[in-house]
Amino acid sequence: MIVYDLICDADHRFEAWFASAEDFERQAGTPMLTCPVCNSGEVRRVPSAVHTARHGREESAPPPPEHGHVAAFSERKNMLDALRKILTQSENVGQRFPEEARRIHYGEAPRRTIRGQASHEETEALREEGIEVMSLPVPPSEDLH
Ligand SMILES: [Zn+2]
Repeated sequence: MIVYDLICDADHRFEAWFASAEDFERQAGTPMLTCPVCNSGEVRRVPSAVHTARHGREESAPPPPEHGHVAAFSERKNMLDALRKILTQSENVGQRFPEEARRIHYGEAPRRTIRGQASHEETEALREEGIEVMSLPVPPSEDLH
């Protein structure tokens, strides 16, 4: 198989696969080979010099927009990794979270990192008492183990 860069009479560029150079010659100018954008049958090969120049430009051009998505994904993955650590190295006290957080804060229970569920009001109340509470961006039902 060979891949050709093709261009139609309306300047749409596209790639097409052919079994051989003869295969391309046979299909060129027939309804078998039309522009995928405008359906034009006036399709010719992009001259190789243009082809090379285009590739050279692509290599020196700034990263394509997809690059940003990849970075965002890897940041999200790092965030989840950090989160996973917090979740696996803390004790799940569930609904008893506000109560347990207070017991730890006032020295009635061993100091440790706990996690659990608390309403917004409960979280605010804990913070007002000087207890460090971190809201996790994961629903309690989500299993990260
Ligand atoms: Zn076209």
